[in-house]
Amino acid sequence: MDGTASAFTPHGKHLIAGDWVATAQTFASDPATGSAHDFSVGTEALVAQACAAAEEAFWSYAYTSRAERAQFLNTIADEIEARAEAVTAIGTSETGLPEARLNAERGRTTGQLRLFAEHILKGDYLDIRVDAAVPDRTPPRPELRMIQRPIGPVAVFGASNFPLAFSTAGGDTAAALAAGCPVVVKGHSAHPGTGEIIAEAIDAARKKCGLHPGVFSLIQGGNRAVGAALVTHPLIKAVGFTGSLGGGRALFDLCAQRPEPIPFFGELGSVNPMFVLPAAAAARGAEIGTGWAGSLTMGAGQFCTNPGIAVIAKGPEGDAFVAAAKEALSATGAQVMLTAGIAKAYRDGQARFEGRNAVTPLLSTENEGRTARPNLYETDADAYLQDHALGEEVFGPLGLIVRISDPEEMLGLARGFEGQLTTTIQMDDADKDLARKLLPILERKAGRVLANGFPTGVEVADAMVHGGPYPASTNFGATSVGTLSIRRFLRPVCFQNIPQGVLPDDLE
Ligand code: NAP
Repeated sequence: MDGTASAFTPHGKHLIAGDWVATAQTFASDPATGSAHDFSVGTEALVAQACAAAEEAFWSYAYTSRAERAQFLNTIADEIEARAEAVTAIGTSETGLPEARLNAERGRTTGQLRLFAEHILKGDYLDIRVDAAVPDRTPPRPELRMIQRPIGPVAVFGASNFPLAFSTAGGDTAAALAAGCPVVVKGHSAHPGTGEIIAEAIDAARKKCGLHPGVFSLIQGGNRAVGAALVTHPLIKAVGFTGSLGGGRALFDLCAQRPEPIPFFGELGSVNPMFVLPAAAAARGAEIGTGWAGSLTMGAGQFCTNPGIAVIAKGPEGDAFVAAAKEALSATGAQVMLTAGIAKAYRDGQARFEGRNAVTPLLSTENEGRTARPNLYETDADAYLQDHALGEEVFGPLGLIVRISDPEEMLGLARGFEGQLTTTIQMDDADKDLARKLLPILERKAGRVLANGFPTGVEVADAMVHGGPYPASTNFGATSVGTLSIRRFLRPVCFQNIPQGVLPDDLE
């Protein structure tokens, strides 16, 4: 692999514990531009093979030193960078996302891998706790040493809208490998070639680092039974999933129904409500409206943190926000969506809004094929609270403005929202009293609450939380972005009176 765009033509195979394997049945990719390629359809037999290899690998990989795993993560990042141009070429072709976005996302992906390398070297994630023995107490207290240990093989499902950062070598894979867990990825059928080249990079790093081949496998999709077989395989001990509410819920239910239920960390959709407080609306309503439209249409609105709902007062100040948002959205041209299926789901979502008496269309666009133009609707708090479907995510550049009569109505509306990845407050100094009332409600609704900005753009950092109460995620105690996400793939083990020389290395 020499890193040039023309050097990568997908062969369409699965990577099972170091071997590229073809299966008889194939599915064709459906790229936004360029040629389609055939990919082998995943099978239950391959799932079983990959899981058995992952379990075998666990016995050595879980006992590697933190320095060895950090080297592996950094080498994966190097191998991805070595394929930079080819990764961008296949990624843009399959997803229709622009080159600059793919380049930035690659940087985020390799940055994430390197961040986890640094994080595990520091060692504080192990959260070691020691209670010294008290032999002369009655009854005597034993020595207790607690440490976080890797949980076993992890299954990973990436999302279509982040072909790198939330996919094959994305945050879930990086966190699991950092923790000491082998990974089996179910490739996303919207970007199978991108998955293949990234798997190639991971396997090259695995070889360079001399690790067991079962540490990483990629099984291409083409058949929904593959995902079901993976999450129900008895050797899988946890699942990291980023994707839709429907898909996530189906797989979550399968995990819960297993004879041995396992944790399913599903990061799902969200409408990310934004509350524009009165002083902010009066001072800069139009400016906030324009900014909101920019965030709403970024990446054709295909972000889980897309702020789909804005809450603002009725009257002239709110009107300035609405007019500016409408003007900016009207000026936004058609954008290519990730898949034909997502474009159709967007049109279906639009039809759902058009068919509702409770909403007034402010901007209705004609959409066809794989492209989308923004749509904008308006409603009031009562209508919103009575129509549950208005709070469901429409994946794409569709905005809903909820007009309120007074601050009390804003608080009532906030109480009515379901779990969210983010909520945003636009506020000025004179809004502080209202913000103090709103914040306790919002912190119960979302994993991240932000002021005077827009939620798209999730920082990969120690303090980041990317999760939230259901349906934003299936596990509100966790985050899928940032260093805390490693905790999903660890479990505490207490070693009582185990002598030195026998304990795990990190406890010696
Ligand atoms: P998706 O359609 O749910 O697909 C995600 C993965 O799950 C794919 O591998 C898919 O397989 C598989 N899958 C879906 N339903 C399944 C089922 N019933 N049984 C077995 N496997 C199943 O999601 P997407 O279109 O990739 O992503 C878009 C959604 O993700 C949006 O709702 C967006 O808001 C959300 N998202 C959330 C976050 C977050 O961090 N919370 C980040 C990005 C995106 P196939 O390959 O066969 O389709």
